[in-house]
Formats: sequence, C-alpha cells, structure tokens
Amino acid sequence: MNKTSNKIEIKGLTLDHLKDFAESIGEKRFRGEQIFNWIYNHLVFNFDEMLNLSKEFREKLKELCELQNLQLVTTQNSSLSKTQKYLFKTYDNKSIESVVIPDENRNTLCISTQVGCPLDCKFCATGLMGYKRNLSSAEITDQYLLAAKEYGKENITNIVYMGMGEPLLNFERTLDSLKIFTEELNKGLSRNRITVSTAGIAPKIKELADSGLRVKLALSLHSCFDDIRTKIMPINKKYPLQETINACSYYAEKTNTRITFEYTMLKGLNDRDEDVKALSKLCRKIPSKVNIIPFNSIKHMSPDGIAGELEPTSHKKLLEFADKLRNNNVTVMVRDTQGDDIAAACGQLAVKN
Ligand code: SF4
Repeated sequence: MNKTSNKIEIKGLTLDHLKDFAESIGEKRFRGEQIFNWIYNHLVFNFDEMLNLSKEFREKLKELCELQNLQLVTTQNSSLSKTQKYLFKTYDNKSIESVVIPDENRNTLCISTQVGCPLDCKFCATGLMGYKRNLSSAEITDQYLLAAKEYGKENITNIVYMGMGEPLLNFERTLDSLKIFTEELNKGLSRNRITVSTAGIAPKIKELADSGLRVKLALSLHSCFDDIRTKIMPINKKYPLQETINACSYYAEKTNTRITFEYTMLKGLNDRDEDVKALSKLCRKIPSKVNIIPFNSIKHMSPDGIAGELEPTSHKKLLEFADKLRNNNVTVMVRDTQGDDIAAACGQLAVKN
C-alpha cells in the first residue's frame, strides 16, 4: 500500500496476487494476467491505455490502485563507458539509485532494495549513508520498469540486486520482486540472469534456497579470514564466515547453481599470498567462481576511520592475484571499473537525502 494515498501498489503484486486481487473485486482471475502483461511486457503505466480491460474495470483500478511508485529525477551517462545511472525519488521524498552496466553480450541493471543500508561495510558508499527504510516490492520492480523505458526493455538482459541496501534484510519484498521478474509471463528475463548479492545473512540465504526461485547468489566475501572480514564488514560478527559459507553450500546444492564470491581488492588487507591460498581452498569446497573487483574510491562520501584508510590494490598486483587463483583452478572474472566518473561503479552508490 502506498502510505500517502492508501492505494494498492499494483506494481509490487506478483502474478498470483494480481489474480487474487482481480477476483476480490468481482473480475475473472485472468484479468490479473492481462494487467501483468500490460505493465511488464508493454511498459504501460496508465490504466486508460489497458485497452482490453472494460472501462468500468479501469475506473475501479484507478480508484483503488497506485501505478506510479518512483519518479525518475535524473539520468547520468558515463563519458568513459555506456554506463547509465538513474536517480529516483520515492513518494516520501527519499532518493535511490540504479545503474545499467553494459558488457559485451549483456546489459545488467543493478537495483536497490533499501534506502541506504544498515550494514556499514567499510568499502561501500551506501554503508556510509546509514539506513533510512526498506523499499516496497513496487519500488524495487519500478526501478526495472522505469530503466526499461529509458534503456529499452529488450536491452536489459540481466538484473543484479547489488545496488543500495542488503536485499536479504528486506526479504519478503525482495522475494516478491524476484517472483515478478522470474514469472514466465514476463518476457525477456529469466532466473538464470538474475543475481541476488548478499553481505552474508546466513539464515536468509537458506530461506532463499528453500523458496524454489533458483536465482543466482553472490556473496560479498572480500576476505576468507574472520578478523579481517569483521574489520571491513561488521555483519561478520553476527554471521561468521563458517556459518555464511555453510549457508552458501546449502544454496549451491539446493538450487544446483554456482555461487559467485565478490572480492574487492584492498591493498595489504586481502591481496596477500595467504589470501590466494584460503580463497582457492574455499573454491574447491563449493561450486563457485570469483569476481575480482577493483576498489572504487568512496572519497565523495568523505569517509573516516578504517573506511578512510582503505586503498586499492595496484592493477598489476590485482591481475597477478587473479592469475594465481587461476593456476589453482579457480574460475575468476576480473571486473572492469565502469561508471567511476559518475560514482556509479561498484560500492559507490550513495545519495545524500
Ligand atoms: S556493500 Fe551492500 S551490504 Fe555492505 S553496506 Fe554496501 S550496500 Fe550495504
């Protein structure tokens, strides 16, 4: 429900919920499918344009439902790559960001699940913003819908839950949005192309595995040693590595997918030979791959404490680290820094609300 108007946020309803809703107001269940089709396949956000619905039904929908959840405020284009960053405003005047990151064969939309984030990872600008609130499922799906309007629905091939916030701390709404994205009726997206990235909320990783959605999972790992990981990711105190890794193992087995370990390279902290050894050992235990990420500056947030002291591993050393992992038969991807010039690269999203 939209808190200002008490209307139902229809973009946050799963297909089943839409059918239930249609039935609850005296319509046939298939009307739910028609609405879903208009919104997700035709990107129509105006009931008057849903021409296969009766005028009477459309009037009822206008009275009961909200179709506009986010307002697109600005679009920024990177001059160095085709990265595009969107700034959205919510009904209560909060700001969130999403980014489209182009690659050779795909364009990935990175979406947010919270305004800010409570987890305070030291290498992340969003963490420095603090936590404001969870996004509704409509606000999560609307980032995709509005970006699809701008970028072209057919051009957005992948979605990663890696923007602002920890998706597994906004579990039910994240789950509803995943159900919407992976719905068969939603053309052009599939579960193989959707990744949920978590800092390691162990019990929720297991719950996601049990949900039957079988999307991909990425763990923000960044160190295989509890003391270092706790230093840069305070959540590691609550869910230490062993517990988180066990949950990832469970996920991989239950969903028959590979886990992606996200690994931001931090000079002197996680780029040593003992890190190569520990990471290689971990990857032998779990079907996985490693995404090596250059540390992107968060100076635009004027960080202090540990966050202010972090430095990137040199590019040369980063490539050597990747090679050493490969020599140990680890599958490694080295991620480009994209959108650095518009603070849209990994870990840089933050808005001063
Ligand atoms: S890395 Fe993710 S979980 Fe950590 S503070 Fe940033 S947004 Fe939150």
